[in-house]
Amino acid sequence: EGRCMKIDGKAIARQIKEECRERAQSLKEKGIQVNLAVIQVGSDPASSVYVRNKKRACEEVGIGSLSYELPEETTEQELLELIRELNERKECSGILVQLPLPDQIDEKTVINAISPEKDVDGFHPVSVGKMLIGEPGFLPCTPAGVIQLLKRSGVAIEGKRCVVVGRSNIVGKPMAVLLLRENGTVTVAHSRTKDLKAVCREADILVAAVGKPRMITEEYIKPGAAVIDVGIHRDENNRLCGDVDTVRARRAAGAVTPVPGGVGPMTIAMLMDNCIRSAEKLFTGIS
Ligand code: NDP
Repeated sequence: EGRCMKIDGKAIARQIKEECRERAQSLKEKGIQVNLAVIQVGSDPASSVYVRNKKRACEEVGIGSLSYELPEETTEQELLELIRELNERKECSGILVQLPLPDQIDEKTVINAISPEKDVDGFHPVSVGKMLIGEPGFLPCTPAGVIQLLKRSGVAIEGKRCVVVGRSNIVGKPMAVLLLRENGTVTVAHSRTKDLKAVCREADILVAAVGKPRMITEEYIKPGAAVIDVGIHRDENNRLCGDVDTVRARRAAGAVTPVPGGVGPMTIAMLMDNCIRSAEKLFTGIS
């Protein structure tokens, strides 16, 4: 138990943001200011926290944020109009629409309206397709962050048995694709998977993106495995926790990411990386 390593997402995210700051600085020296448009519709409190954290990261890194706080009753047409305008504006390197959107706005329509050149969340079908066939494009921030977390903490992926629990379009599915791109042998488990514990116990690398507080215990973990916890929840005592029961998981795992301080900060760091990359590409033509 004492041998379980804590994977420090906060420190690795700080390192990535520092690299981003240097790249933003060198763009600035060429007269290029990187700007991210952040659009929030309505005032969902969880969304407000995410938006605030993203803007704060922009500040740290030297990215300007163009902030749009639209009222709850904004129509789809109005939002699409703003996105079209931002698509055209050269000084805007990335467009982020904070999800979820109010009921009168169709998320798919909105995501499709963002120019793939500015799709820093990596949710546009063009970005998803490029990721799948291995062409350069924006990678979704959470799964890309998990890959960086593994690489930078010295966990090799090539040839390893990887199990991803969850198959959502924003986490589970792209996570599986990125692990495959790194030459992992990947299994995707979900709510219809039979004998989930046994499937998970095959994993050298287990990624929990299941959305169930503290579901993953030592019974799901092969001794020595690296366990990545994507979940974010508030428990009955209003404390943050993940999909992994960290105390129990440590009995079996070789390494675990904490919540908070694991995947969360990595997601934001990868958003910064995508913004800088977008500016580098828009202004120099290098991808
Ligand atoms: P979704 O609810 O969209 O997906 C959950 C997935 O888990 C589904 O594929 C579902 O299967 C599967 N699942 C649910 N219950 C079980 C079960 N009992 N056994 C096996 N599989 C199950 O969640 P997201 O992918 O959007 O997010 C996952 C978690 O990650 C959430 O806690 C979310 O808050 C967090 N998150 C964290 C981020 C970060 O920055 N750290 C970013 C995004 C999300 P099926 O498809 O069959 O229904």
